[in-house]
Amino acid sequence: MKKMFLTLCAAFALGLCPAKADVTGGAERPKLVVGIVVDQMRWDYLYRYYDRYGEGGFKRLLRDGFNCENTHLNYVPTVTAIGHTSIYTGSVPSIHGIAGNDFIFRHTGRKTYCTDDATVSGVGSDNAAGRMSPRNLLTTTIGDELHLATNFRAKVISVSLKDRAAILPGGHTADAAYWFDSSTGRWITSTYYRETLPAWLEAFNATDPARRLMEQDWNTLYPIDTYAQSTADDTPYETPFGKSAKAVFPVRTSQLLESDGYGIIRETPYGNTMTLQVAGEALVNEGLGQDDITDLLAVSLSSTDYVGHRFGANAVETEDTYLRLDRDLAAFLTQLDEKVGAGNYTVFLTADHAAAHNVRFLADHGIPSGAWSAEAAEAALDSLVAADFRVEDGVQAVMNYQVFLNRQKLERGGADIGRVKEAVLRYLRGRDDVMYAVDLEQAGTAPLPAPVRERVINGYNSKRSGDIQVVLNPGWYDGEDRGTRGTTHGVWCPYDAHIPLLFMGWGVRPGHTQREVHMTDIAATVSALLHIQMPSGCIGTPVSEVLP
Ligand SMILES: [Zn+2]
Repeated sequence: MKKMFLTLCAAFALGLCPAKADVTGGAERPKLVVGIVVDQMRWDYLYRYYDRYGEGGFKRLLRDGFNCENTHLNYVPTVTAIGHTSIYTGSVPSIHGIAGNDFIFRHTGRKTYCTDDATVSGVGSDNAAGRMSPRNLLTTTIGDELHLATNFRAKVISVSLKDRAAILPGGHTADAAYWFDSSTGRWITSTYYRETLPAWLEAFNATDPARRLMEQDWNTLYPIDTYAQSTADDTPYETPFGKSAKAVFPVRTSQLLESDGYGIIRETPYGNTMTLQVAGEALVNEGLGQDDITDLLAVSLSSTDYVGHRFGANAVETEDTYLRLDRDLAAFLTQLDEKVGAGNYTVFLTADHAAAHNVRFLADHGIPSGAWSAEAAEAALDSLVAADFRVEDGVQAVMNYQVFLNRQKLERGGADIGRVKEAVLRYLRGRDDVMYAVDLEQAGTAPLPAPVRERVINGYNSKRSGDIQVVLNPGWYDGEDRGTRGTTHGVWCPYDAHIPLLFMGWGVRPGHTQREVHMTDIAATVSALLHIQMPSGCIGTPVSEVLP
C-alpha cells in the first residue's frame, strides 16, 4: 500500500495524477513525526548564512522539503513559552492560556512562571528546576491528539534545554518531557511524567555530557576573518561572558564551567549539540518510529536564543552558532534516515519567535530604534496612580508589553478601575516611544491596523493577561538590560514575528509558497497529514500546498 502511495506521490509530483490523489493514502501515517523548533531563529537566517551551510542540514530541508516562506506569529507577545505552545496547539494565548513566560492569574493576583507546579517534584533533580508540568496549558497539543487517535499506543517525547520548551510542546499526555538542570548538568524530568529517569538517560547523564562539550572550548568553525555576515568580533553591542572585558573568541568554556557552572553551555552552540544528542538517545532507546504506530519527537534548540540575547543578530558568535547548528542538524537527519528510514518520517522545522537587531547597532546606522524600560514605566505609573487615586502599588507589573493593574488593591482603595485605566492610557499615549496604548477589554475597536489588532486580541487572555497593551514604535524593545548589549524579542513587527517553516519527508510535497500562513497553521497541517483530530483550541488551517 505504501509503495502504491509513494508511486502515486511521484506521479502527482510529475503532474500525472488528478487532484483526487490526496485520498489514496487513507489513514496511512509516517512512522515518526519530528518537530524541530530553533529558538529565536529569524526567517532570514535561512538565507543570511546560506552560502556557508552544508548540504545535509538547512539546505537539505530547503531543497527536499516544502518551504512556507511567509509564516508569522499571529499574536503578541512573541516570547518562548507562547511560541512553543502555539506551534503544538495551533492556538493562541487567548485560548490556550499560556499568556507569557510569566503571567498573573487576575482573579487572585498570583504571579506564576508558565510551567511551575508545586504539586510535582523533580526526577533526577531535587531542586526547583524539576517542579514543572503542563498544568497551566488549557488545550491539547498534536501529541495529545496523536495519543487519543491511537488509543495511547503512540509514543510522545519532548526534549529541550529549557523546561518550558520541552513541557509545553509535549502536552498533557506526553510519555516524557526532558530538560536540562543547570545546577547539576543533568537532564531531568518531573513526577508529572514518571517516577524515575529511564536507564538510557541515567547512562547519558553519567557521561557528564555538558562537561565533555565545554572542555573543547568554543572557537569559530572557520577562520574568523571569513565571517562576512557579521560585524567584527569585538563590538560594544555584545555582552561578555563572566568577568571577561570583551565578547571575543576564543570563548574558554572549559574555564567558564569552573567559574560559572554548567548553565554556561546554554549560551554556546554546544547546548544545541547536547540537546540533539539527547534526542538521538531517545530516538534509539525508546524505539521511536520502529512500529506501525506513529510516534512524535519534539526537539527544541534553545542555545540559539541564549546566544542571540547575549550577542545580538549581527555577531560572529551568532553566525558561528548557526553554522554549527547546521552541521548538528545534518547529523541528526542522517541518524533519522538510518534508524527510521528516509521517507518514513516527517520533519518540520520552525521557530518560536525571531529577534530584533540590537537597538544601538541600528541607531549607529541611522535606523529608527531605541530601548524602552518596562521597569521605569512601572515606577512612573505606580507614582501616577498613587498621586491621582491615593492607592499605593496600584500597578502590579509591566511585563509582556502589558500593564497589569493591581485590581485587588485598587478596589479595596475605592479607586474606579475605568478612571485608572484612562490615566494610564493618557500617560502611555503621551510618550514618543509608544505608538499605541490599548485597553485590552476594548481591543476590538482600537484604532490599530487590522493585522496588529488581531495579534493583540489573540494574545489577550482575560484571566491571565494585563489590562493595557503597549505597542512600541517599530525598532524599539523593552530593554533596560538589553538596550545597549545583545538583543531581545516580543513585539508584533516582522523581525520578531516572521519565522522559518519547513516540512520534509513522508507525505510532504516539495515546493514553496509566499502565501501568508500563521504559526497556528502548523498543528493543523500536521494533524491533516496524520489524519488525526486537530488540537482542542486550534484556530489554524492546514497549509494545503504541503499535503499530497
Ligand atoms: Zn524563545
